[in-house]
Amino acid sequence: MSADDLKKLVKEFKALTKKHLKQDFPENPWEQLMGGVGAVFASWNGKRAIEYRRIENIPDEWGTAVNVQAMVFGNMGDDSCTGVAFTRNPGNGENKFYGEYLVNAQGEDVVAGIRTPAPINQYSKNDQSKHLVTLEKFMPEQYKELDDIQQRLEKHYKDMQDIEFTIEKGKLYMLQCRVGKRNGVSAVKMAADMYKEGQIDGETAIMRVGPNQLVELLLPMFDPAIEKTHKVIAKGLPAGPGGAVGRVVFSSEEAVEWASKGEKVILVREETSPEDVDGMHKSEAILTTKGGMTSHAALVARGWGKCCIVGCSEISIHEKEKYFLTKDGKKVKGGDYISLNGTKGTVYEGSLPLIDVDLNKNQSYKQLMTLVDKYKTMGVRTNADTPKDVEQATYFGAEGVGLFRTEHMFYGEGSDKPLFLLRKMIMSDTESERKTALDELFTFVKRDIKATLEVMKGNAVTIRLLDPPLHEFVPHDKAKLQELSKELGVSMSILNRRILALHENNPMLGHRGVRLGVSYPEITEMQVRAIFEAAAELQLEGVKAFPEIMIPVTCGRHELTHQKVIVDRVYEETVEKLKVKKIPYMFGTMIEIPRAALKADSMAMVADFFSFGTNDLTQMSFGFSRDDIGGFLPKYLDLKLLSGDPFVSIDQSGVGELIKIGVERGRKTKPNLKVGICGEHGGDAESVKFCHSIGMNYVSCSPFRVPIARLAAAQAAIEDKKYVKTT
Ligand code: PEP
Ligand code: MG
Repeated sequence: MSADDLKKLVKEFKALTKKHLKQDFPENPWEQLMGGVGAVFASWNGKRAIEYRRIENIPDEWGTAVNVQAMVFGNMGDDSCTGVAFTRNPGNGENKFYGEYLVNAQGEDVVAGIRTPAPINQYSKNDQSKHLVTLEKFMPEQYKELDDIQQRLEKHYKDMQDIEFTIEKGKLYMLQCRVGKRNGVSAVKMAADMYKEGQIDGETAIMRVGPNQLVELLLPMFDPAIEKTHKVIAKGLPAGPGGAVGRVVFSSEEAVEWASKGEKVILVREETSPEDVDGMHKSEAILTTKGGMTSHAALVARGWGKCCIVGCSEISIHEKEKYFLTKDGKKVKGGDYISLNGTKGTVYEGSLPLIDVDLNKNQSYKQLMTLVDKYKTMGVRTNADTPKDVEQATYFGAEGVGLFRTEHMFYGEGSDKPLFLLRKMIMSDTESERKTALDELFTFVKRDIKATLEVMKGNAVTIRLLDPPLHEFVPHDKAKLQELSKELGVSMSILNRRILALHENNPMLGHRGVRLGVSYPEITEMQVRAIFEAAAELQLEGVKAFPEIMIPVTCGRHELTHQKVIVDRVYEETVEKLKVKKIPYMFGTMIEIPRAALKADSMAMVADFFSFGTNDLTQMSFGFSRDDIGGFLPKYLDLKLLSGDPFVSIDQSGVGELIKIGVERGRKTKPNLKVGICGEHGGDAESVKFCHSIGMNYVSCSPFRVPIARLAAAQAAIEDKKYVKTT
């Protein structure tokens, strides 16, 4: 712009100031400065700042600061320039000076992206900038000075710095430096490298990586630069992290069929149920319009490390016509490609490119996790139900199984026969009919339990007895019903009547958990026998096994005693039958009903361990249905009636208080009571830290969250030590 242009512009701005502020633009420089300071403070309440805080979980009350400093000019001609640089590459963590600069420009020009900046050195060249002259070549002396300074800055701050500089008429000025933002991959590499270089100690290295950043190392992700250029067509709750691309299908059957032909699919449904498990497994990702972070879809997907978005109420599904509509009226048909970012909860049209990662090849990760294991004092186990999942979790560092959900053997691949037998058992009318069905089922239950115990080689495996209400296993399709009626030798109408009798108004609060074992002791007996026989057989085969029998959904000691009588009897029978001296095991309970937490002193008289089922405990403390929270949670968050989803991170002041009471009262009765957590919170970093603070022995989480929990546990131990040191 010429001087005349600037004069014109100044006039226009002055007029605008007058119009909006009803006063003249101040001529006094001090007044101008204070106006500038005020504008920076006011920017705290700008739309973008508010949005950024929401995403980054930064409290509104923190406020911002203003630095006042002398101005230098990078736009004083071709002997001036300005740039932004990092002491290490923030994209991959490499220990290489990385940055960009613009000749004859202001800092704002670099940030705004109106001109393509040039690389500061050979290393910083990319496809767009490879033909441009580097600062190193353009101003070698100043580059050398800048390089010296950046090395000193990093050494001083002991962390990667993001620096801004200006060269005014050949003289270098440093404008600012701050700790540079980095992605998960770089965070791990920088922490491990700086530890190796002797810049930081082990504790600092561990504290440098955000536990959730580890997720980026474990799952395929979208290329962030490309993702930025695509429009979000819908947003939901980020239930299973990572990126996924596939063609839209609307039913589990379709997913299975398409996947068998080698198609990558994304299952889009209002919600999922156990009957969808096969299709969910075969899908790249799952997108549901209903449900919260511990809804069926979310829980199952997370267990598999699968990308998943739930509660995406911005789309409406027209299942019969095979399309869905976005809130902008965009029609996405079955078979169309979509891309899901399960870390952010965003949906895109078309297929975005994914970047793959192999943890085994990541030396920095391995080095960091070796350090982590030195510091953490709490155990980390996994929630897993198949030998494959257990192996996966062991690879991620799990030290045991904290929750083996028995019912999972009735879902998904290879479940046809056991599921059929379970259904036969459910539909039985008399105890003897049920016993016959249970006898047949026993072989399958034992086989599955044995396989998991075997993989764990003597590390604890907490096996939870059947939990869900029986009606969940009742078939819905006619062919399966007919098969069942034939097998049982009863008419369809009798079968339908029995199904009707299983109906409950509130199944979550109904005939589930220990209540099944009280009504049908033979169900408990069959499972316990399977556990003991599996463990004893392994022992005879020379393989160590340590099962922990866990009773779910209990609310008092008497239920536990009732079940313990069965356990004790079956134990004696098995020892006798298999001629073993002893079968090492433990007997315990889940604490997932508020009353159980309050009555923990009494529960601990019978239980040798507690495992807090914080999914149900949260549901029953808040009275929020874990499957329907998606319907009202967004509004609660918007209005700040809740600071976060209590199914994701433990509500420490409410539910957490119950957990604390449970631990304290339980240990009053039994000082050595083993205490853990197996709700979804076991993989949430903040919740893991909470569990450490109240003295839990271990946390248990889905296989893919094991590294997160390990890192969080180490950080909690370090923070704990620091606290003790300074007070
Ligand atoms: C829980 O309630 O926290 C739990 C682990 O059990 P489930 O999720 O199977 O009800
Ligand atoms: Mg539960």
